[in-house]
Amino acid sequence: MRGQTQPAKPMAGSSDLQSIEDALDRLETGAFGYCENCAEPIALARLCDNPTISRCKNCDEA
Ligand SMILES: [Zn+2]
Repeated sequence: MRGQTQPAKPMAGSSDLQSIEDALDRLETGAFGYCENCAEPIALARLCDNPTISRCKNCDEA
């Protein structure tokens, strides 16, 4: 039993990981919370629902 490591989360798709890395990248550049498409601020409720989201409601629905 010793030496076994358990991942905190089940294996997620690499796209999930990529979106998290993208979000961290935007955090560093100060672009976090802004739509990558129209540069409008993303609603806080949307970010709370999905912190890695990169588009505002309008662009997501378009
Ligand atoms: Zn937008």
